[in-house]
Amino acid sequence: MKTQPSHPASSDCLFCKIVAGDIPANRVYEDEFCIGFPDINPQAPTHLLIIPRQHIASTAKAEAEHSALLGSLMSAAAKIARAEKLSKGYRIVVNTGEDGGQTVNHLHLHLLGGRHMNWPPG
Ligand code: 5GP
Ligand code: ZN
Repeated sequence: MKTQPSHPASSDCLFCKIVAGDIPANRVYEDEFCIGFPDINPQAPTHLLIIPRQHIASTAKAEAEHSALLGSLMSAAAKIARAEKLSKGYRIVVNTGEDGGQTVNHLHLHLLGGRHMNWPPG
């Protein structure tokens, strides 16, 4: 019998469809754990999304077993930021849940750069 992965790809998850290649995205980065591609509705001159290949709904569902995966998302963001020459800085955002403004329930990092970011965020 086939063993089920602990977080199977969700058939109705938009980002799982991007991981599977069923929805096209311009992959500017990919490794064993994650992929990076431009946000369809950019909020800054550079606005990329970095997502794990594995379906995790949000940081609210992250556990210790995901530590390596979560770390790889951050180091992928750093690598992409260097490749994009964001030498003046950038912002990494992880919206979580309703109050956090999350609209796609597959954990993702936003990498925003190319303009000055305000604080506090809206
Ligand atoms: P959230 O609001 O969950 O933090 O971020 C989800 C992001 O996914 C939004 O910024 C939205 O513009 C982006 N997005 C939604 N649908 C698509 C899509 O089909 N392709 C790409 N590349 N980005 C998408
Ligand atoms: Zn998913």
